[in-house]
Amino acid sequence: MNTPFINHYIAGRRSAGRSERSQPVSNPATGALTGRVRLANAADVASAVAAAREAFPAWADTPALRRARVMFKFLELLNAQRDTLAHMITAEHGKVFTDAQGEVTRGIEIVEFATGIPQLLKGDYTEQVSTGIDNWTMRQPLGVVAGITPFNFPVMVPMWMFPLAIAAGNTFVLKPSPLDPSPSLFMADLLKQAGLPEGGFNVVQGDKEAVDALLVHPQVQAISFVGSTPIANAIYETGARHGKRVQALGGAKNHMVVMPDADLDQAVDALIGSAYGSAGERCMAISVAVLVGDVADKIVPKLIERTRALKVLDGENLAAEMGPIVTEAARSRIRGYIDAGVAEGAKLLVDGRQFNGAQAGQGCDHGFWLGGTLFDQVTTDMKIYKEEIFGPVLSCVRVPDFARAVQIINDHEFGNGVSCFTRDGNVAREFARRIQVGMVGINVPIPVPMAWHGFGGFKRSLFGDMHAYGEEGVRFYTKQKSIMQRWPESTPKGAEFVMPTAR
Ligand code: NAD
Repeated sequence: MNTPFINHYIAGRRSAGRSERSQPVSNPATGALTGRVRLANAADVASAVAAAREAFPAWADTPALRRARVMFKFLELLNAQRDTLAHMITAEHGKVFTDAQGEVTRGIEIVEFATGIPQLLKGDYTEQVSTGIDNWTMRQPLGVVAGITPFNFPVMVPMWMFPLAIAAGNTFVLKPSPLDPSPSLFMADLLKQAGLPEGGFNVVQGDKEAVDALLVHPQVQAISFVGSTPIANAIYETGARHGKRVQALGGAKNHMVVMPDADLDQAVDALIGSAYGSAGERCMAISVAVLVGDVADKIVPKLIERTRALKVLDGENLAAEMGPIVTEAARSRIRGYIDAGVAEGAKLLVDGRQFNGAQAGQGCDHGFWLGGTLFDQVTTDMKIYKEEIFGPVLSCVRVPDFARAVQIINDHEFGNGVSCFTRDGNVAREFARRIQVGMVGINVPIPVPMAWHGFGGFKRSLFGDMHAYGEEGVRFYTKQKSIMQRWPESTPKGAEFVMPTAR
């Protein structure tokens, strides 16, 4: 049987492009090859940008209310097809189906927010800034903007970007992860059905070669990137050097502090769900439990029991709590971290390396499986503490008090998400104020902000100053113009040689 190609989407239709390169796409649960994704070259990127550039003037001129109506229609189609999209995610990413449904829902919420674009683009107006003169500001679209997205949320993360960018009047080129490329084409079809003109949304499948071409393309005005920190850093620098606006969201190492007064059962539920949900392949996954005072001795036995009992199954099985790892390469990277933790002297309480595909279900023998892994006695100098593992590995760090908990978190290179479990309002308040992390949960393990609040971390988890989506997203995808007007009748004539001030 021929393996189907997963193509680009340019000017309203699927396209094989010119590049001869492609790479395999597999179902992580079974290891079966399901397709080959095209890998664009610079000429393919140029075609996509040209299509977006051609579509831009008419789309930017379309009244915001009519652009919003396209988003309303897109929303309707998405709602009708949400499970189709979720199955596509599970097939290429491996996350459990119910979690994939949650991903689609969080993406849809951004589209809901984008339908409010007429209100979001409303400018400011000041009458009579000087006699007979008014001043107002408006926000206008940038032109062609691009999004480069990671494998771990093939629907939600692109939706952090394109609904707002397009609703604001830009045209878009998406470069999804080549590991799970199919949902991007499905979303492109839905946008077309919703009435978005050809060229409004384009997809170039690919890897570094496509990204490099986007970064230097003179017609690309802005780049939104989400992925690992080294790439985010490089994209920020290269994009800025080529005169582009860049927001580049990077990696993470998210801590959850458990205070001695916390509800321990709630804390255990939160740790298990947020460390092992989506096999730990979430940028907001909790990977470090910071156990304060005597709480460790009470909580660690419960964590062992729950980690051992995790239902690690094919994501299509509705009983599954955790699915496979996305690729064999990722699995071996994570195993390498577990080996390193053992070598550095951390106490391995549950070893996910023992898990194999036969335990996950029929046909899973060749999938990329790993069980939940739990370490205790992890210290801040260890590699498994310092680096992002991006897998189902939870490290327990014991600290004597709240001050030390805050200090180790603030000293960490990453600052994406964090959480504190406590019943003490003052501890909660101090934690939220003092912690150097962009998204904070109080008794909430994964505090992903809602569509209208915006998403972004601190330190090396975000390069650039604008968060994804929310009002910051609207600002990122628009430029402000200030207009000052007067009419000949309203002012006496005569040249003015001094700096204008209010009169
Ligand atoms: P990645 O950095 O490997 O890839 C992200 C994107 O960059 C992909 O489209 C990929 O094709 C492209 N890319 C990869 N290598 C490149 C290179 N050398 N030059 C140019 N482009 C390149 O990330 P991933 O493995 O797909 O995703 C996991 C990472 O993303 C984790 O580090 C995770 O924390 C991070 N992430 C962050 C957030 C956030 O909001 N901060 C959200 C999701 C994921």
